[in-house]
Amino acid sequence: MSIPTLTLKKDRERSVLHRHPWIFSGGIERVDLQGHGRSSQGQIVQVRSATGTTLAAGFYDADSQIRCRLFHFGDWPAEGFDDAFWRARLEQAHGLRRDLLPPQTTGFRLIHSESDGLPGLICDVYDRTAVVQIQHPGARHLIEMLVDYLRDVLAVEHIRLDTGEWLHGHNPSVEFKERGMRFRADVVEGQKTGFYLDQRDNRRLVEERSAGRHVLNVFSYTGGFSVAALRGGAARVDSVDLSVPALALAETNVALNGGAELHRTIKADCFEHLRQIDGDTFDLIVLDPPAFAKNRASVDRAARGYKDINLQAMKKIRRGGLLFSFSCSQHVSTDLFRKILFGAAADSGRDVKILDYLTQAADHPINIYHPEGEYLKGLLLRVD
Ligand code: SAH
Repeated sequence: MSIPTLTLKKDRERSVLHRHPWIFSGGIERVDLQGHGRSSQGQIVQVRSATGTTLAAGFYDADSQIRCRLFHFGDWPAEGFDDAFWRARLEQAHGLRRDLLPPQTTGFRLIHSESDGLPGLICDVYDRTAVVQIQHPGARHLIEMLVDYLRDVLAVEHIRLDTGEWLHGHNPSVEFKERGMRFRADVVEGQKTGFYLDQRDNRRLVEERSAGRHVLNVFSYTGGFSVAALRGGAARVDSVDLSVPALALAETNVALNGGAELHRTIKADCFEHLRQIDGDTFDLIVLDPPAFAKNRASVDRAARGYKDINLQAMKKIRRGGLLFSFSCSQHVSTDLFRKILFGAAADSGRDVKILDYLTQAADHPINIYHPEGEYLKGLLLRVD
């Protein structure tokens, strides 16, 4: 049977030659699915230049503006894309985590989509439980292989698909370790796959800087930063969030690690809460809100949201205080985020210095050819 092909418009192969993994609908001259029609959703296509050169292979999706997600560049391999090909990708992804994860850490992202050459596939492991997200129809073809790998190599016993289906076992409330800290996560009702694994390195930084400080964890979710601050010797920690179940889990997580008497949870809207708190109370504030910009059109509004919370935090923080400020909006670049914080600093009238640039942990790697994969950015600021 002949291979389905996608032919690019004239002179539109540049981004593919630069190994960018997305092909947008506008760059496509024609698609020949070889009679597969609608049943071809997610199927593998060969990408060719207008002059007929084979450039890449990817998963096709007629319903998305990103019409094709590439996972291979160059000539078509003689053996095609067989089980051995995909197994090697899984091994490569696993190897990176094995090399990079800190000791006593059993919660990590095993697969991070395009960053691991597996477009549309996300897999987070929480000790003996794994949660799989399928963000592209092409990734459906990989589930079976991934399940075998999780069971054979990682001894995973419970596997949940983000559709709600358990492919193996059943374990909605997981417990895992991060650098020896114990965390519980709700993999069914929680955010993401249950926990913000991507903040691991930044939790360590908060831990390192918390000794003796009064810490305010804004948008705390299940208290990851709060547990880290307490382990680092914080004098007191307030966790603020709107979600009651998230705060309940934050209390559990603090209790599992000690320091509950120094911690309290506050159910409040963080925008209002930051306006209410007394000045000069906190000398370490973490601001890690949800993505305010879900798409390009909402970037301006998102910028106002980021500026608002950062301005309030800068106004209220004690002299010499540390502000860990994050944005996980893919559409807000590091450069724009820095400009927003500049605006907040200028309005606050405080003396503000950048001590560090922060990003997602290495098990959420950034493919250098795919800058869109860099979604989490943060600045560590000192405010005098
Ligand atoms: N910092 C967290 C992740 C934050 S996720 C961590 O490291 O685990 C974003 C959180 O913001 C969610 O828990 C959500 O309930 C909360 N949230 C969203 N809007 C809010 C608002 N206006 N006020 C308070 N909490 C809010």
